[in-house]
Amino acid sequence: MPPPRPTAKPTIEKAPEPERRRAARVYKRLQQRYPDAHCALIHRNPFELLVATILSAQCTDTLVNKVTPGLFAALPTPQQMADADPAVIEQHVSKVNFWRNKAKNLHAMANMLVEEFDGEVPQTMEELTRLPGAARKTANVVLGNAFNINHGVVVDTHVGRLSRRFGFTEHDDPKKIERDLMALFPRKNWCMLSHLLIYHGRQVCKARHALCADDAICRAYCSHAKEQMMGQ
Ligand code: SF4
Repeated sequence: MPPPRPTAKPTIEKAPEPERRRAARVYKRLQQRYPDAHCALIHRNPFELLVATILSAQCTDTLVNKVTPGLFAALPTPQQMADADPAVIEQHVSKVNFWRNKAKNLHAMANMLVEEFDGEVPQTMEELTRLPGAARKTANVVLGNAFNINHGVVVDTHVGRLSRRFGFTEHDDPKKIERDLMALFPRKNWCMLSHLLIYHGRQVCKARHALCADDAICRAYCSHAKEQMMGQ
């Protein structure tokens, strides 16, 4: 196998300075609030994180963390997962959404790792997004958390919602949201940014029953909280 190519770093046009300064203030406040923010998917190596992230599509991290210990104990390596009967993978992941399709993708993904990448998880966006079941979000999770490569920003439902509410973007499309976040925040913060937004989304800015006016960061930076306070 050829050595991994360095992940190309696309040039990002930066947002105007005042917007970047405001974004940096929000980031700092979130960092102070959630100093231990980290990837919620339990994993011990890049392969396990890749598997867990593929399983996490439209499924909670909590549920994924319930099924992966058994799966990783039975099939701990790409070779073992590739050699396994797909029915064995299905048994282990049958509690997550779309388990049949995800099991099929895991089997095909493990086979591709063995056949094309010498059993190693690749370290570029281009290669990762060729793997069955792995789109850009999965690739960003793996690059950022397993390899410390800030290629892009993971945009899940929390990141999208919070980014709109904090005024970082006006878009709904994850690709456009990601582009706006990359323009606002320095590259070194991209991986942690999504953890911080996810923590705030889970603890304060819940999709239902958001704690808007009760939260100091929200009161300072979210127009929704300001509207609520004016209406009180
Ligand atoms: S003020 Fe409300 S809507 Fe805005 S970020 Fe906070 S919890 Fe979410």
